[in-house]
Amino acid sequence: MADRGKRTVRDLRRGNRSALLRHLYFEGPLSRQELGRDSGLSAGSISNVVGDLIADGLVEEAGSVDSDGGRPRILLRVAAGYGCVVGVDVGETRVRVELFDLALTELAAADLPLSDSGHDVDHVVRLILDGLSAVVRDAGISESDVLGVGVGVPGIVEQGDGANGPGGSGGSGGSGGQGGPGGSGVDLGGGEGIVVHGQTIGWNAVPFGRLLRAGTDLPLYIDNGAKTLGQAEMWFGAGRGASSAVIALLGSGVGACVVADGKPYRGATSSAGEWGHTTLQVGGRLCRCGARGCLEAYVGAEALLERWGRAPEGQSEEAGLTALLAAADEDPSAAALLAETAEYLGAGIADLINLFNPERIVIGGWAGLMIGPRLLPAVREAAVAYALHHPCAQTSIEMGLLGPDAVTVGAATLPLARLLDSGGAPWNRNPTVREARLEVR
Ligand SMILES: [Zn+2]
Repeated sequence: MADRGKRTVRDLRRGNRSALLRHLYFEGPLSRQELGRDSGLSAGSISNVVGDLIADGLVEEAGSVDSDGGRPRILLRVAAGYGCVVGVDVGETRVRVELFDLALTELAAADLPLSDSGHDVDHVVRLILDGLSAVVRDAGISESDVLGVGVGVPGIVEQGDGANGPGGSGGSGGSGGQGGPGGSGVDLGGGEGIVVHGQTIGWNAVPFGRLLRAGTDLPLYIDNGAKTLGQAEMWFGAGRGASSAVIALLGSGVGACVVADGKPYRGATSSAGEWGHTTLQVGGRLCRCGARGCLEAYVGAEALLERWGRAPEGQSEEAGLTALLAAADEDPSAAALLAETAEYLGAGIADLINLFNPERIVIGGWAGLMIGPRLLPAVREAAVAYALHHPCAQTSIEMGLLGPDAVTVGAATLPLARLLDSGGAPWNRNPTVREARLEVR
């Protein structure tokens, strides 16, 4: 009984720390008075919790504002320099590793091209670990300053141990007066049980978490790249303020992050959102997944360039897409191909509208950001033509705001979300992370 009582008090304290930390992170800088008004906590509780957070180095003062006739009010914010987080994007042609402070300002970055071995798993793991060492070295920090590493990978990510997604995955807005994304279950960043099924790149139940864990002691968080991109857009980009949205990722392939009630919808084994492999044409073009007629086999960059058939040889898909967009100004067949692609994309978006009734659909990913601005009016027109009128009228279709590297930013939000959810629990800090993890269990 005594034990249970103790845990409850500790949980309550952690809950208050987490609530204030999250609120300061997304809405700060704020004064103690504003924190009290927004959280409903008493002035005494605010004073205690803020005092603890400042003593721990998680929160710092950020100037002051005049109050009506009274003493100036001190503003508070989350201390960007408390620690660092790493975001990794296992992309189609390269592994990108970025080191950020807690404000997600980039401190160092490394791009490591995938060699001819493509997505050979051991090669990818080696590149991630090399990139990790490189950014820690380049930023002049020590590895113990890194609170955690988030990795966005292509394919379906099963979290293992029954966990349903990395801690703190959440969408923006809607949750009472707190603002910012809602929290979720606590994940300790073990990552060992994480398995990746990447059917289009030949990853068959790859024990990715265990392979990475063999090379680093840092807390690990792994999720599908479309979901990390989605989290970045929900936290800082075009999804901010929506509680129900779909973030579409168009790259070489096509994916999506479906956000329902402020949280990514994952389904039974985390594969929900594989929008690219929904059927556009029965018996149609062969897709990388092995099926026929998938949306990805028409609007993914690889497929789009194959359909065009005139991309300059030996160049990147990005160069190919640039050439296609330029050709469309003069060549009617290229223009017709893009018009057809806009209709396919709009029809695919209409499916998302009919299935999920989102407030917002955001088009992101490097290819989406390249073709989107040109195709958006036609995509919207097609969505209106193919979707049910009522839900379609409630949905806006917009471009992503965060640029092509948003997958890395999103990956870095995974350990950051964990820090905020835990209220900045000390077991986030290395090198005691392993012992502390045992203690918590
Ligand atoms: Zn497919």
